[in-house]
Amino acid sequence: MANSFFVLAGWLIDGTGKPPVQKVLFEVKDGNIASLDKYTGTEPDMAHLLDLSDCTLIPGLIDSHVHLFMSGTSNQAVRQNQLDSPFGKMKEIISRHLYQQLSHGVVAVRDGGDYAGHALRYKLQCLSLKPLPILIKSAGLAWHAPGRYGRLIGRPPLQWLSLAQAISQCEKNNDHVKIVNSGLNSLTEFGKVTRPQFSREELSAAVKTAKRFGLKTMVHANGVLPVKQAIEAGCHTIEHGFFMGKDNLKRLAEAGIIWVPTAFTMQAYYQSLGKGSVEKDMALRNLEHQLEQISLAMSYGVCIAVGSDCGSLGVHHGSSVKEELGLLIRAGMPLEEAIKCATLNGARALGLQGQTGSLTIGMPATFVAVKADPPGLYEAMGSPEKIFIRGEQWKKDHDDRQLYDLL
Ligand SMILES: [Zn+2]
Repeated sequence: MANSFFVLAGWLIDGTGKPPVQKVLFEVKDGNIASLDKYTGTEPDMAHLLDLSDCTLIPGLIDSHVHLFMSGTSNQAVRQNQLDSPFGKMKEIISRHLYQQLSHGVVAVRDGGDYAGHALRYKLQCLSLKPLPILIKSAGLAWHAPGRYGRLIGRPPLQWLSLAQAISQCEKNNDHVKIVNSGLNSLTEFGKVTRPQFSREELSAAVKTAKRFGLKTMVHANGVLPVKQAIEAGCHTIEHGFFMGKDNLKRLAEAGIIWVPTAFTMQAYYQSLGKGSVEKDMALRNLEHQLEQISLAMSYGVCIAVGSDCGSLGVHHGSSVKEELGLLIRAGMPLEEAIKCATLNGARALGLQGQTGSLTIGMPATFVAVKADPPGLYEAMGSPEKIFIRGEQWKKDHDDRQLYDLL
């Protein structure tokens, strides 16, 4: 593509929450959006015009919660194999997941950790050799309390260290800190709460220490108390937040803390689990409850970011961003607001403001073109017509397709 070219968009949803605008013409210069105007049809002929007048354009998508070391497969043997994979094999698995993300128009992901720090190692060692046009923010290993949930994605602080001391001694090259402050959601008892893993003081000291290193903190927390403590500690994002309750939702809005509800995890359980099982029904009830919380959060003005938690059972890399977005819409969110949660709000969660997340003058021309008008966008966005990253078209080649079809 030439250094400078024009794009005619049938409709533009710019990621800021503004409603779709029909017929927009913008110039891409050196990878950035140089100008952006309503198309009038009276413009002079342009030599380099990319005609996407049958498409809706949205900013490149952002998944604010992924686990690159695992796929969403429900085949238990494959899952176990992935968990046991040495880094040599893990490189292929992670590459495949990144191709899956890119092929769905996902241009940035935030990894919530794995037990060996594979995703961080991949970012540091492999991306420099074989660059991919996807931005990865990685926690490395998450932190959990000794004997509590979190073994697959992290480790506890050593016995003689506080959480804050452990963070200050162990963090190397990671992009943020991930702390696990509750258990998982119960699939047998509705709304069952788990104790916080750390005290409020421990969490506050940990968040402060992370800040000293310039790192934001993402906290896994379900239930009233674990979420309340994480908010009071000043974390950057709350992950999951099932059953956190009204007061915590109001606190999130007041504190400007981002919520990543990962609601699709429950729908995926529902779809993956056996018919008539208690767990299947409970997954559905958990989902319905989370959708009610999302509706409330919207009315309170909580900043929500789309995070799929892909790598969980039935939650596949790439395609799950659309699924999570669809659940926000089901909870009553307008399309353009849901897109904002998967773009601009995601950029905020990842600390990428100004680099990606909106299609406005001066921003990189990173966009997904979907062959549909806005009412048909959601249905069609699983197979984008074109994906541009910083003004360059990204194309899946045949080998890539074979790679990600393996899973
Ligand atoms: Zn997770």
